Amino acid sequence: MSRERDKSANTKHISKEDVSITDPASRLKYITELYSAVEINPNYAAIRYYRTGIDMTKMAAVYLKEGSLESAYALYMKFLTIFLEKIMNHPQYNTVPAAEKAKNTAMLKKIIPVAEELKKKLLEQYKQDAAIAIEKLKQQKHEEEERLRVSELEEKTPRLRSADFSGDFDRLDRLDRVAPSTADDTNLPVFDRSLKPSTYPSPKSGLRQMSMPSRMMTEFLKLSRGNTANNKETCGILAGSLVRNQLFVTHLLIPQQMGSSDSCVTHNEEDIFDYQDQHSLITLGWIHTHPTQTAFLSSVDLHTHCAYQLMMAEAIAVVCAPKYEETGFFMLTPDHGLNFIARCRATGFHPHPNEKSLYTHADHCKLDATANVTVVDLRKTT
Ligand SMILES: [Zn+2]
Ligand SMILES: [Zn+2]
Repeated sequence: MSRERDKSANTKHISKEDVSITDPASRLKYITELYSAVEINPNYAAIRYYRTGIDMTKMAAVYLKEGSLESAYALYMKFLTIFLEKIMNHPQYNTVPAAEKAKNTAMLKKIIPVAEELKKKLLEQYKQDAAIAIEKLKQQKHEEEERLRVSELEEKTPRLRSADFSGDFDRLDRLDRVAPSTADDTNLPVFDRSLKPSTYPSPKSGLRQMSMPSRMMTEFLKLSRGNTANNKETCGILAGSLVRNQLFVTHLLIPQQMGSSDSCVTHNEEDIFDYQDQHSLITLGWIHTHPTQTAFLSSVDLHTHCAYQLMMAEAIAVVCAPKYEETGFFMLTPDHGLNFIARCRATGFHPHPNEKSLYTHADHCKLDATANVTVVDLRKTT
């Protein structure tokens, strides 16, 4: 996600990344194109796109409320592209329940006018940014010339300080001539932070920070104790909310499931989705136990996690290994593992090449020793 600009190449090839902050229209066009470039992955279940779509609109609503227009717009663009243009090409499109599609259509109708309105507001904001940037540039030029003039003066005639009025008019005149051509200036502040919200600073990795209650693991181990004793895995969904561009895991949702010594299959996931809908919770990852093994991601785990991370870049996989008193906070490497697993068609346990790491420690996930956890155990309702 990081787009470091190569300063040496900025005049020859003006790439999209180099859209200037002083050019509001191209800036908006760039953002729109960037976030509309979504590809449908047939390995990612069609129904999951619909579920993720709901999460996208939830997050967009938060950004909108908090005034982060660009982040909201980005999510709406992604949503509209997926559901107006792409999803019908998914091989499982016809298996998506009609009720799910109807819900989505209703949401599309609501979002289209909001996105249109947002586009106008964003253009306004970009115009203001441009005006400020141009003003700043003018000032910088002015100050620079002032410095130059003073140092020249000091060199030539150190004692004659009041005899240079004519120069001021000259400078103003030059300034006016410079202003309109600033877009070509190589010292321009270039708008290259397109993947980041306009009102929040973003971390270097491009990932939003995620806060995880330490209690999450304690609670999860407690409720999986019975299974662990019987050498059976337990799994749960991590859900929460987005606040000021930070993700907060607040809920542990335990779906109906069937565990074995090295796997855990969930049933009736709809119950989980319904609960999340009712409580406006976003899916942020998943957690499972390794009753007798260490904390790592098996090949099956990697594929399970891929589905989460494809749609939520920050999604994490927590593995609790009680026997070794180990906990792992993992994610697929964004530059390799994510794409590799998304393309891998093998199922069940299978080997992956290991010359490059497919997954890594999730550095963006920070533990919070004071935060609470709400546990919803849907196994009990059966
Ligand atoms: Zn596992
Ligand atoms: Zn694979």
